[in-house]
Amino acid sequence: MQGSPLLKDLQNEAIHLLGLNRPQLVHWLTSIGQSAYRATQLLQWIHQRGVIQFEEMTNLNKSFRTYLKDHTKISPPLLLRDEKSHDGTRKWVFQLEDKNAIETVFIPEEGRGTLCISSQVGCTLNCTFCRTGKEGFNRNLSTAEIIGQVWQAKQILKKTSHEKITNIVFMGMGEPLYNLEHVVAAILLLRDDYAYGFSKRKVTVSTAGVVPGMEKLKALSDCSLAVSLHAPSNILRNQLVPLNKKYPLEKLMDVCRNYFPPRSRRKVLFEYVMLQGVNDEPKTAIQLAALLKDIPSKVNLIPFNPFPNSGYQRSSSEHIEQFKSLLHQNGLRVLVRKTRGEDIQAACGQLVGEVHDRTRRHLLLKKIPDQC
Ligand code: SAH
Repeated sequence: MQGSPLLKDLQNEAIHLLGLNRPQLVHWLTSIGQSAYRATQLLQWIHQRGVIQFEEMTNLNKSFRTYLKDHTKISPPLLLRDEKSHDGTRKWVFQLEDKNAIETVFIPEEGRGTLCISSQVGCTLNCTFCRTGKEGFNRNLSTAEIIGQVWQAKQILKKTSHEKITNIVFMGMGEPLYNLEHVVAAILLLRDDYAYGFSKRKVTVSTAGVVPGMEKLKALSDCSLAVSLHAPSNILRNQLVPLNKKYPLEKLMDVCRNYFPPRSRRKVLFEYVMLQGVNDEPKTAIQLAALLKDIPSKVNLIPFNPFPNSGYQRSSSEHIEQFKSLLHQNGLRVLVRKTRGEDIQAACGQLVGEVHDRTRRHLLLKKIPDQC
């Protein structure tokens, strides 16, 4: 991960310091004859203090600062739009150097603040109930672009509110496990005490069920895991999450069953979008409870967030409550996720950014108006 691309950058273009984690920084510093301890200094300046002007990095000597100026860059994504929901949720649209734009959402709650970050420009998965997928796909984000969202969010919050980021969830645009290398590299920065210092429980990667990616993530990182399940049978899940045809439930459940070490008391979070008349029947709840009965799990029921031409409707509150009680009675831990930021299109599955689609998928659909 930290070998050849870095050396290639060294020869060809400025190194993007924002995306280098500790092992990558140490590797690079050593290659230019600098001491490894400078990695801690750079991490602290850039990520802890939010300083990106080399002149302000006063504990670095002048000649090193000049070297940094000539050979490296620190360029966070550009803030295009800053929207605030009536419930306090914030949505930021960030423009990348190639003019694609991604979305990042901050959800403040009593005693916590969750930042929902994107891992790709668009998404390739095309889950039928998710608006992000309808916009097509352009590319994976670099580590600098992933961490740049956190860097920017921290700076914006520092200037505009007293709220703090306490949790990070990879639940924005894209499938994080299709961008595993950069996501894992970004997690190292999120977890580093001299960068962002989040504990393993406060960083959650959400996947639609990329089984080989889950196995790799398990080996490479100890962060929390969420799985977008949405259906307890292959027949139904094939319809909602086409990826299920590649990695069916039996394979997905096998990796979930052993994901965390026994006796760690850690649980996989299963996300389940509530679609009226599709996956919200009492018999489906019983099937779901049976599927998860020997898996250390928590279930999050997500009321469907509608968008034009989706073809789906949100289950009624009564249905959701009934579904929840059935899961509960059958021994599962279950919560209903509060819908946040709907008025600014910042809720789950509503993030679109500005994707220069390379799949042409968006042309197959009627143009979706901006507002529901
Ligand atoms: N690709 C990853 C990361 C996206 S997370 C994954 O699938 O987990 C976004 C979460 O919101 C997922 O659980 C997704 O299934 C859910 N979601 C997508 N569209 C939604 C919608 N319209 N309403 C409610 N939840 C939705």
